[in-house]
Amino acid sequence: NLLMEPVEKDDITTLRRVSRQEYLKKREEKKVEELRDDIEDEEYLFDGVKLTEAEYGELRHKKELYEIVKKKKKKKKKQSVEVDDTSEYKIPEAYDQEGSVNQEKRFDVALKRCRDQECVGGKMNPFAEQEAWEDYQIGKAMLKYGSKNKRQISDDDYQFVFEDQIDFIKTSVVDGYNTDNEEVSKLLEKSKAKSALERLQEERKSLPIYSYRDELLQAIQDYQVVVIVGETGSGKTTQIPQYLHEAGYTKRGKIGCTQPRRVAAMSVAARVSHEMGVKLGHEVGYSIRFEDCTSEKTVLKYMTDGMLLREFLAEPDLESYSVLMVDETHERTLSTDILFGLVKDVARSRPDLKLLISSATLDAEKFSDFFDSAPIFSFPGRRYPIEINHTKAPEADYLDAAIFTVLNIHVKEEPGDILVFLTGQEEIETVEENLKHRTKGLGTKIAELIICPIYANLPIELQSKIFEPTPEGARKVVLATNIAETSLTIDGIKYVIDPGFCKMKSYNPRTGMESLLVAPISKASANQRKGRAGRTGPGKCFRLYTVCSYNDLEDNSTPEIKRTNLANVVLILKSLGIHDLLKFDFMDSPTPEALMEALELLFSLNALNERGELTTLGRRMAEFPLDPMLSKAIVASDKYKCSDEMISIAAMLSVGNSIFYRPKDKQVHADNARMNFHSGNVGDHIALLNVYNSWKETGYSTQWCYENYVQVRSMKRARDIRDQLEGLLERVGIELTSNANDLESIKKAITSGFFPHSARLQTNGSYRTVKPPQAAHIHPSSGLAQVLPRWVLYHELVLTTKAYMRQVTELKREWLVDIAPHWYQLKD
Ligand code: ADP
Ligand code: MG
Repeated sequence: NLLMEPVEKDDITTLRRVSRQEYLKKREEKKVEELRDDIEDEEYLFDGVKLTEAEYGELRHKKELYEIVKKKKKKKKKQSVEVDDTSEYKIPEAYDQEGSVNQEKRFDVALKRCRDQECVGGKMNPFAEQEAWEDYQIGKAMLKYGSKNKRQISDDDYQFVFEDQIDFIKTSVVDGYNTDNEEVSKLLEKSKAKSALERLQEERKSLPIYSYRDELLQAIQDYQVVVIVGETGSGKTTQIPQYLHEAGYTKRGKIGCTQPRRVAAMSVAARVSHEMGVKLGHEVGYSIRFEDCTSEKTVLKYMTDGMLLREFLAEPDLESYSVLMVDETHERTLSTDILFGLVKDVARSRPDLKLLISSATLDAEKFSDFFDSAPIFSFPGRRYPIEINHTKAPEADYLDAAIFTVLNIHVKEEPGDILVFLTGQEEIETVEENLKHRTKGLGTKIAELIICPIYANLPIELQSKIFEPTPEGARKVVLATNIAETSLTIDGIKYVIDPGFCKMKSYNPRTGMESLLVAPISKASANQRKGRAGRTGPGKCFRLYTVCSYNDLEDNSTPEIKRTNLANVVLILKSLGIHDLLKFDFMDSPTPEALMEALELLFSLNALNERGELTTLGRRMAEFPLDPMLSKAIVASDKYKCSDEMISIAAMLSVGNSIFYRPKDKQVHADNARMNFHSGNVGDHIALLNVYNSWKETGYSTQWCYENYVQVRSMKRARDIRDQLEGLLERVGIELTSNANDLESIKKAITSGFFPHSARLQTNGSYRTVKPPQAAHIHPSSGLAQVLPRWVLYHELVLTTKAYMRQVTELKREWLVDIAPHWYQLKD
């Protein structure tokens, strides 16, 4: 508790100890002053400090004098300080938790000190004001030059201090089109006066697609397959299924609409149920992995492309559907690409099935060609002019640059919301935290900035926040992943900040390594992102990269099928009876190496026999919507009598890396809490099991989660997933058996699925994976990071600065030989 008050000593700021009496006195004064602040009006504000009229006048005068004084006065008198070393207290709130100085408070304190000295001592300290200023200036300089090393940006909050400017050059203005649509404005004007449901109906009519409703329905009636192209936000996803429903297509079966992203499926379904005035899950529902929000009544079903793929397993001709809309096809996800081949085949055998392929980009000929020259129905969107800005020079840190740009737009540009594209949850949270930090305490100096994050793992109740209209006088900043590029449209966005990156899965079939890399986006993406700025009025796009960098971008991103692990889809295709994968109707074929790799893996897991046919085991594995290795571990747990434990582990692994959290100020506590689950060096898998079981023992207590630095939401999700896996166990005829005390059996079951992921310790302390041989390290977050067992098995290998193994468990070499004799043999 030795934090103290700032004092200047030459050029550096040191801290002054204050006595208990002094502390108490100041605290009293502070209270009185706060009270006074409350009653006084806000006319005389000086950098956030409220002053009386007299103080204000004097201060302004002094400020002008300051420059002169500074020049004349090189050395200043040091204050003598009485130190009472019996007890020491800090001036509250002058420092934040990490000890870094809160600038505003700091100036506040410094200024108050000056005033104290003036009244308390009865005489003027001629340098008091200057000291306060210098104190403030020094702090500012430290922040300005110190902040680059650390991602954490301190709350140097003054409007005039947003001096970390980014130099932009306006490179072009793209024209708008179809903007003088008077009818639309009339509609929207009219809609303001009505009830919510009526208003929604008017809004529907204002969407660009509305004018093409009848033509579109006609085209769908005339042709079995129609490729639909329309700009993002024009109403494809939300309107077309409703039009079809209104036209009676749901009398013959459901309308299914696929989305590449979970969040989009949920959010769009919610919106449509709203527009139709029905409860979500009734007539309109959604289905994503581990979450089915549909019912008997459901006629409009939004789902992820991966879910439709799985539905083929239960219903190969998709009989319950009258229309299938494969949406957002420009994204070219793996599942969408596989769906193309499957739905094309179904459409041939079912002439009554209507197939819609919709895309936001103009290069739809490829889709049309693939679907036997299906007609392309393309309709114009509506777009206002957009000004494009590029940075003059490359930015070293795009997160910093994004933050500065947000703040500068906020204080300088006219009203309108901001959309920032970031690569993932972690970045979004960092930026959110920083923005909050920087705007906190600015009070009325700047308009309110409402920060809305949106990413896949954000709980649904928080997702809808991004769509809430921004209150008058405030500005909304949406921090989004790629999801806001084309899947979701947020009205009212006027400014887009595009750092030019996204997270991209990449897979090397030769090394078997899948990595999630932050990679530059394509030109197509950059243009989509830009387009988000001009939907409801003229907008501006700020690209945090130079024109040259833009020119270097690829035209289009590589389809996922060319850069991912295929084991999962190969297992599904095999279960659908598609034996000869090379003959499968791919729009873009995967590489033969990637296909071979997938077949080989499935063979070694005994999911396929030597002729490449699905085995009974493989059939059971395919029932689980999980990675084949994890499915195999579950099926194998039957033999080791530990299916109960195994599905808990699988559920925890499926939640991802969001079980534990480490608040910045309590990292040590959090790490200690986490290590409790690892006692006995049981390994990360068993540790996850320990977390789950301990939580279960407390009756799924939220309090317990807080105490153990475990994320409640992730745990709830794990519980949901586990429940479903339990249901699937029953379906494949595996009894739920518990073998909690026999950790070795549990580890053996895991090994049955993950034996290809084993690694051996090297003399230099790193590991070497067995197949393919390559150097790897235990991830620092693992409980075994310090233990370094001779043999380990890992859940996944991720490439960041090094190749890291995540979720690691120790294993015995003999197990490998027992469990996978076709893969491992003892040398000696
Ligand atoms: P497209 O599929 O052509 O990109 P959408 O059908 O997704 O367009 O969106 C049409 C319009 O519906 C958007 O411009 C937006 O105004 C509105 N909208 C879509 N989803 C939501 C939502 N969840 N909340 C509020 N408005 C939404
Ligand atoms: Mg859409």
